[in-house]
Amino acid sequence: MSAAQPYRGRLAPSPTGYLHLGHARTFWAAQERARANGGTLVLRNEDLDSTRYQMEFVTTMLEDLRWFGFEWQEGPDVGGAFGPYNQSERMAFYRATLEQLRAGGFIYPCTCSRKDIQAAVRAPHAEDDDEPVYPGTCRDKLLPTLNSQPSTRFSWRFRVPDGETVAFTDGSCGEQRFVAGQDFGDFIVWRRDDVPAYQLVCVADDAAMQITEVVRGADLLKSTARQILLYRALGLTPPKFFHCDLMRDEAGVRLAKRHDALSLRALKAQGTTPASLRHSWR
Ligand code: GLU
Repeated sequence: MSAAQPYRGRLAPSPTGYLHLGHARTFWAAQERARANGGTLVLRNEDLDSTRYQMEFVTTMLEDLRWFGFEWQEGPDVGGAFGPYNQSERMAFYRATLEQLRAGGFIYPCTCSRKDIQAAVRAPHAEDDDEPVYPGTCRDKLLPTLNSQPSTRFSWRFRVPDGETVAFTDGSCGEQRFVAGQDFGDFIVWRRDDVPAYQLVCVADDAAMQITEVVRGADLLKSTARQILLYRALGLTPPKFFHCDLMRDEAGVRLAKRHDALSLRALKAQGTTPASLRHSWR
């Protein structure tokens, strides 16, 4: 990022359930950082996971965010120069990104593990991100593929540079180091059911939307290492990163959409005000 580039941040919620207080706290940090830098905040609707995504959640997600006090300058409901802001409308762009990776020799078709493949579309939050390092079963199979057109026979996997340390300085968590092939293995960028994976769409969109700083939960630190490899493969410069602490319940469990009582919806129904919730974070 050059010093002259104006700050652009983003909120990237997935409409897979009601947003809860943990989301709000991370998003608030993103909004505050955009404001402090006189920047622009983009709302990107990450609605690719059609198995979990429900139209109703898109509407409630936008309502809940506005109720809480979020204001974005670009997004699916307000437009902007970098749209569309619904990922479901960006498929052609993701395909072109996949093709660029294929042409560069960075990915290979893989016929393994349906479970891995289904998980790949979602951001691998905390407990989901302990997947074993892919053993490389399909790495050198040279399955016959003419191009990166979708096929129900295989997914596409990114070949990580085994043994290489991916290091970055996080704006909140400090120095980070992950070793490719040890901390994480070859990861899926496109599922065999023709859905692009989170890692690919996140990088493609953050770059295309000229995001200068990604603010998100600390459970995605390892994904950032994966994404830095994708930026490099695509000849793109990574943004800055700022990973926030996760909010936990009294038992120390990371808040998730299953914590209904802490959903913004429920808090609003109880008459709680956003200001009092924000105050409790101090
Ligand atoms: N939609 C993703 C999620 O909900 C976004 C992760 C990110 O901010 O990169 O986890």
